[in-house]
Amino acid sequence: MTTLTNLLDFDPAQLVAYCADLGEKPFRAKQLQRWIHQFGASEFDTMTDLAKSLRDKLATRAEIRAPAIISDHTSLDGTRKWLVDVGNGNAVETVFIPEENRGTLCISTQAGCAVNCRFCSTGKQGFNRNLTVAEIIGQLWMAEFELRRTKGTEPGPKGERQITNVVMMGMGEPLLNFEPTVTALKLMLDDNAYGLSRRRVTLSTSGVVPMMDKLSQEVPVALAVSLHASNDALRDGLIPLNKKYPLRELMAACRRYLAFAPRDFITFEYCMLDGVNDSDEHARELLALVNDPVVGVSCKFNLIPFNPFPESGLLRSKNPRIKSFAQVLIDGGLVTTIRKTRGDDIDAACGQLAGEVQDRTRVQERMEKMAEYQKKFGADFGRIVEIPS
Ligand code: SF4
Repeated sequence: MTTLTNLLDFDPAQLVAYCADLGEKPFRAKQLQRWIHQFGASEFDTMTDLAKSLRDKLATRAEIRAPAIISDHTSLDGTRKWLVDVGNGNAVETVFIPEENRGTLCISTQAGCAVNCRFCSTGKQGFNRNLTVAEIIGQLWMAEFELRRTKGTEPGPKGERQITNVVMMGMGEPLLNFEPTVTALKLMLDDNAYGLSRRRVTLSTSGVVPMMDKLSQEVPVALAVSLHASNDALRDGLIPLNKKYPLRELMAACRRYLAFAPRDFITFEYCMLDGVNDSDEHARELLALVNDPVVGVSCKFNLIPFNPFPESGLLRSKNPRIKSFAQVLIDGGLVTTIRKTRGDDIDAACGQLAGEVQDRTRVQERMEKMAEYQKKFGADFGRIVEIPS
């Protein structure tokens, strides 16, 4: 049986090379790329401006295949979450968060994660495997065109784009799956694909220092760093990777990255953990760290109310504590936001992604939970509903 080549695996240059192998000119690759990434086409027959001979050739050798959707739920607040199949009993989650003037898609780059942050349910299930380019960009492809279908928006560059921002903050540490992540990023930025600006694509890392430098050279999108602690002793206990790349090294890498970044600040993510990292003293220590004349860095803080899960043994900081912590940072001159917790009702909030990757029986549990919610909130709960623009 001939194995079909999945064209979602190719960045623009690779698609040109693939077309050249078929004896086709580079402009054919551009046309093909537009059909795939701007029209969401998955059948070569629909690509009407390609010669029939090329369409026939492609049909016997290639395919356009995103990961299959296992489940699709929309939260009361409009957050939409897909669980997608990435083979061998693995699944990852993709989450769309609609806001007033933008739509953000949070995508995953690995099935499971080896970093094992203490506050993250993904980390608790261990590492399964790296996602391919098709599985990473396929999440954007699938979500953009599913959202358009739901809204009745036409495909193509003229149709209203649903996803205006992408954050690589789902399952996995993107910098530990570097090449496929970079290829997917190039497609996100390409004018013949999604045409997103570098400012609208954010990669979040737990601090893989050498790869941050490499990213700055290859595709320097906006950077978020999972900081979560104000000193090494605390961070060592929350993010084991800190023992390898401690705070001073991480800060220095952030400074180097800024020379290439599309924004003049790094976003520091800080998960608020009750009694662990949330005192005013911790906030003052953070101020000293980011203002340090040698390692300090221009930054803004995003405080994330923790989503507790039993195995973590951790609790969410109380709201007044979060506000007081934020106030110390603000008084110290830092732009600080508190992330709105969204999608709680469908487990789409940060740190809750794909708890069921290895254990599909949890999908059943969630379906049961959904039925329970539908009884409580009405029959439309959890069904695909129109997301207000
Ligand atoms: S927070 Fe990110 S890096 Fe840490 S375990 Fe979870 S997915 Fe991995």
